[in-house]
Amino acid sequence: MEDLKLIADEVAVCTDCKLHQSRKKVVPGEGSSDAELVFIGEGPGFHENEQGRPFVGAAGRFLEELLASIDLKREDVFICNVIKCRPPGNRDPQVDETQACSKYLERQISAIDPKIIVTVGRFSLARYSPKSRISAIHGQTSVVNGRLIMPMYHPAAALHQPSLRRTIEADFALIPELIAHAEQTLSQEDDPPPDPEQLSLF
Ligand code: SF4
Repeated sequence: MEDLKLIADEVAVCTDCKLHQSRKKVVPGEGSSDAELVFIGEGPGFHENEQGRPFVGAAGRFLEELLASIDLKREDVFICNVIKCRPPGNRDPQVDETQACSKYLERQISAIDPKIIVTVGRFSLARYSPKSRISAIHGQTSVVNGRLIMPMYHPAAALHQPSLRRTIEADFALIPELIAHAEQTLSQEDDPPPDPEQLSLF
């Protein structure tokens, strides 16, 4: 199994896309190396870029509240982003940037080998289901490449929208059941290829 620190060390000196020019700190991700549950967000924002840690600031505090609601702490899971350096002005990541950075995320997932991946926001959902709309499939689980994938809205989107906040809380409440039955569910699946038009939702 590859060492997560080794990957983080490579990220720290990476110049493989133009985001290295404007970043302050890289944000490789953090948490347990044998987590059952991995959260993948979009990219570092202002506070993450300052601190070199994922999901800090208001959205991070909300994520910690959500984790606490299901008796988990940050250290119990692994939290990372699709891209490891902040896009200037919090713009969306560009295709060349996500492509250049995807190797690190793939290696992190291989190293951790989680049963469940929660995609947080549309950019991480696009990795597993590029044509799906988060509004249509949030909280629903599919099996992709031998893992359970559950899309959720980004906590930042909920900060000023009480209805979205309740939606995220409801989706989060499904996670304990997902963890409890993950092994059984995965053993029953045929591991279909990631076809966004024919997601085996349940
Ligand atoms: S975003 Fe990823 S690929 Fe681009 S410089 Fe940062 S670590 Fe390297």
